[in-house]
Amino acid sequence: MKYAVLFVVALSAWAQAPRTREIDELNWMEFKQLVPQRIQTVLVPTGTVEAHGVTHNGTDNTIPTAVARRIAPELNALVAPVLNYGITGSLEAFAGGITISPEAYKAFTRDLLRGLAKNGFKNLIVVNGHGGNTEALTQVLEEVGREMRVRTLIVNWWSYCGDLTLKVFGEDGGHAGWNETAMVQATHPQLVRKELYNENLASPRAIPGSWTAFPFPSSIILYQPKQGMVRFDEAKAKEYFSSCSDKIRDLSKDVIAKWNLAGLYQ
Ligand SMILES: [Zn+2]
Repeated sequence: MKYAVLFVVALSAWAQAPRTREIDELNWMEFKQLVPQRIQTVLVPTGTVEAHGVTHNGTDNTIPTAVARRIAPELNALVAPVLNYGITGSLEAFAGGITISPEAYKAFTRDLLRGLAKNGFKNLIVVNGHGGNTEALTQVLEEVGREMRVRTLIVNWWSYCGDLTLKVFGEDGGHAGWNETAMVQATHPQLVRKELYNENLASPRAIPGSWTAFPFPSSIILYQPKQGMVRFDEAKAKEYFSSCSDKIRDLSKDVIAKWNLAGLYQ
């Protein structure tokens, strides 16, 4: 009887959700119990510090962190601390912008991902919040995947959720446009400074080969002229955040299931 009770207690402790899914908030003993025995997946939010219309300069950090936190329980994943500096491009000149050189960024992210792999994670999923990082991250994820025999995935949320932008807002979005601002409005409404907004803060994006400008003249960069102007609709913002998160969760689940099915780097 005693053993049966002990067994049930042990089993329920095993089945219990971890105290927190934030790597930053776990101690080493807790981490040791979780990874890799119970948890093999880590979500790594990446962003940068740059101007975003009327939301905060850390918008690209806030969004992937919020998405990762939301989907971590359903993926049985932990969330790594956000990598909150990145490769800022043509918006660096706006006040507060900071950029890391691609060489330094790649070297740093390579070591970061290697460190996660060494700690026992098998599935390294980068939820990226900033387009300037994409090329470097894609290269590094492939390198680390091969070298450490781990499975890697990068999701650029604004691009992967482009269909949802059209569905929810009825038009295309933009950098710091309605869609990106909505992701902040849904999760951190106090960081959206609606009263500072006017449509002159926006410009359509440069068409490669047609024109480019450095610095880019606006931090709200519309993917299509006259589409994606910010309208601050709270219900749409919430719908967009939750449907984007669900879509990224489903992709991650599917990719992990197919990695398992194919027996890749198990
Ligand atoms: Zn952004």
